[in-house]
Amino acid sequence: MGNTIWLRDNCGEKVVESLSMSNGATSVLLEVLALSGSDLAVTDREKEFIVWLNQRDQSIVGIGTVGFSISEMPWTKRDYNEAKRFLFSVIDSAINKHRWEDLDYTPNEDIVVRILNHFRLLITNFQEEFVDESHYIEWSATDELDEYPTIPNGFPHCSKHKILLSCHGCLLCNDGM
Ligand SMILES: [Zn+2]
Repeated sequence: MGNTIWLRDNCGEKVVESLSMSNGATSVLLEVLALSGSDLAVTDREKEFIVWLNQRDQSIVGIGTVGFSISEMPWTKRDYNEAKRFLFSVIDSAINKHRWEDLDYTPNEDIVVRILNHFRLLITNFQEEFVDESHYIEWSATDELDEYPTIPNGFPHCSKHKILLSCHGCLLCNDGM
């Protein structure tokens, strides 16, 4: 078991080597991205990318079920370059151990940095022509009556961990349960 993040082109060919990780390593990747991303996200679109990542919460949706394709992320053609730049800044900040001290464990730095660099490589190789906005449209569609919308209204943060909440709540609170 474990999770894989992959990137294929529009013909279904693998673009770069997929990132396969243990379930534990996946949680660490998502948690360090949540810490840096929640602090760096300023615009709603930037916050959406972090909420999308935080939704891959193994404590809630099941361990080993949160792998994804880079194409499934909430890309739009309009702000493709800005989104990519934002994600690079989030990854680089995570590599620089941004707020790692807020985790209740000490990540294995060698492993986490290797995984972050691999994730960066996958994002680097994601081309504008791979953007399929139907993923974003489907994900961001809101139902006014939904008590737990996919993108929580107003982008609330966890008061304890200061990270953006997904529809599943706080990644770090849930991991500590
Ligand atoms: Zn929390």
